[in-house]
Amino acid sequence: MKQKDLLYTGKAKSVFRTDVKGRLIVEFRDDITAFDGGKKDVLKNKGSYNAGVSAFFFDYLGQNGVKTHFVKMLAQDRMVVRELQMIPLEVIVRNVAAGSLVRNYPIKEGTPLDPPVIVIDYKDDSRHDPMLNDEIILALGLTTVAELKKIKKIALEINSLLSELLAAEGITLVDFKLEFGRQGKTIYLGDEISMDSMRLWDKKTGESMDKDVYRFEKGDVMATYNRVAQRITAGKKKK
Ligand code: C5P
Repeated sequence: MKQKDLLYTGKAKSVFRTDVKGRLIVEFRDDITAFDGGKKDVLKNKGSYNAGVSAFFFDYLGQNGVKTHFVKMLAQDRMVVRELQMIPLEVIVRNVAAGSLVRNYPIKEGTPLDPPVIVIDYKDDSRHDPMLNDEIILALGLTTVAELKKIKKIALEINSLLSELLAAEGITLVDFKLEFGRQGKTIYLGDEISMDSMRLWDKKTGESMDKDVYRFEKGDVMATYNRVAQRITAGKKKK
């Protein structure tokens, strides 16, 4: 497979066309950003760690019946994916109160959320990703009623699968963000699932093991990402 022209570049990933129909290449770059791009750095090997963890999760989810865009790894920082028509939603699943939920609402960090809380934001940096509700999603024509229902169902299935996998490694899945796309009528999980898009807390120590280490300068980001990648991928692959 040959990598062709750049199709899209985001804050931490670039997407390229290929010479194969329906297949794209995603490059996980070493760029890291936080606070709407207000804090930016380049951390050597971050792209490879995130690509590796994402591939591991996509593979695990695929083995457990979740349709994802992942096809195969091409290099440590590059994967082949199915080309999707992306839906501009950031689907966040929360098991424990943290981050913007605690900032914006009267709830204490660490409060368990059972059942999990799904929050859907509109993916648009120029508007600072405002929160949506079902009616706004439908009014904007972003999904059909059936697609929205399906997206929420898949997000909760992914939450159960990942929570269980991570719990076995002594890690609490606090919250995470997903993005979906369609190919024809089928909804696929796209984007990434990595330390940049999840909040992970060590069950014993409560220590952050994710991008909060970068956001709030809680320690050595790359040492943390390396440790988490090792710990996660050491886990069992199939339920
Ligand atoms: O900031 P907030 O608490 O809303 O984030 C919830 C979860 O979604 C966190 O795990 C965060 O890393 C992830 N997220 C993301 N990309 C965004 C917004 C949130 O990966 N644009």
